[in-house]
Amino acid sequence: MAGLNLKNIEKVYPNGFHAVHDFNLDIEDKEFIVFVGPSGCGKSTTLRMIAGLEEISSGELYIGENIVNDVAPKDRDIAMVFQNYALYPHMTVFDNMAFGLKLRKMPKDEINQKVTDAARILGIENLLKRKPKQLSGGQRQRVALGRAIVRNPKVFLMDEPLSNLDAKLRVQMRAEISKLHQSLQTTFIYVTHDQTEAMTMGTRIVVMKDGFVQQVADPQTIYKHPSNMFVASFIGSPQMNFIECTLKEENNNVYAEFKGNKVTLSAENSKTLKDLGYVNKEVVLGIRPENMFVHSEVSDNKDNVIETNVQVTEMLGSETYLHLDMQNQNVIARVDPSTKAEIGKNINIGFDITKIHIFDKDTEKAVF
Ligand code: ATP
Repeated sequence: MAGLNLKNIEKVYPNGFHAVHDFNLDIEDKEFIVFVGPSGCGKSTTLRMIAGLEEISSGELYIGENIVNDVAPKDRDIAMVFQNYALYPHMTVFDNMAFGLKLRKMPKDEINQKVTDAARILGIENLLKRKPKQLSGGQRQRVALGRAIVRNPKVFLMDEPLSNLDAKLRVQMRAEISKLHQSLQTTFIYVTHDQTEAMTMGTRIVVMKDGFVQQVADPQTIYKHPSNMFVASFIGSPQMNFIECTLKEENNNVYAEFKGNKVTLSAENSKTLKDLGYVNKEVVLGIRPENMFVHSEVSDNKDNVIETNVQVTEMLGSETYLHLDMQNQNVIARVDPSTKAEIGKNINIGFDITKIHIFDKDTEKAVF
């Protein structure tokens, strides 16, 4: 078990491509860290540098107390599970799990013990004599995890380990990996492009874009207080709605104006915007789909109500997504399935003003 420290890590590939810029992160022992971001953002490169599979161009990587930049992968005390978990097809499950230990010349009794223990943790004791082709995708993934567990590593590294599984199995394995983390009490670093995996599994999430870290925080903080428009749009599904508007002041309160509509902001937020000089400036207002409501279903108060046209309704059983044309800006509201909204009809939409975000139009950074 160990913490890790990444200090000013950079990766420039031999062709000159700068894949990771100034990556800094202090990972405590037993954390479950998730690197998340779109394809090409540098998350796998960073993980591979931690594993020792990719050279670190500059910066320092510590595992525990030791700087490991020049330590060979096999001596870093880490185990890695990949997306294509390449089991040896001619070996049984037992032998697949035992293989690395045999190479290390571990005594047979000890190997037996370790493989049996790992198989019990993963619930695959009854599969030990089977060959990989006799297993389902989820079972194979468990064997790949078992192969990592038997090594008793200080750190587990996982690169999209669930992306080859079907949706239902992914949900199941997601919970199993979280349970595994709890029972092993070891540091996990997990790479995914799937924001749901990041939100549900991570104790902390590192959101990346174009080789730069955008935000590092626990899932709730990332969701409630995204640091910029990229994080706000990447985390959460359907994504946060963005509405271009101008901030105006009236009776000491600040309101957002767009196409003749007004959304009054809370007293606290008004003060922040005034103090920072945002009055009379163009900004981007962010509101999550669940923080919008169909007005007639909630109250008769006509403040902060915007007329929209229903373009599409998506019934999901427990909720309904309304795709709305809000004065030529497309937005999605997540509402109760009992909604009477009909395609082509106009409905009034209200905002929960305590949940509004404002972003600087130039820097795209969150004011709040
Ligand atoms: P994905 O989800 O698609 O795996 P990722 O965020 O893990 O994406 P990386 O694999 O880390 O992305 O790649 C980051 C960037 O570095 C990409 O633009 C990729 O094209 C580039 N890259 C990766 N390997 C090399 C290489 N060997 N030489 C040059 N550029 C590379």
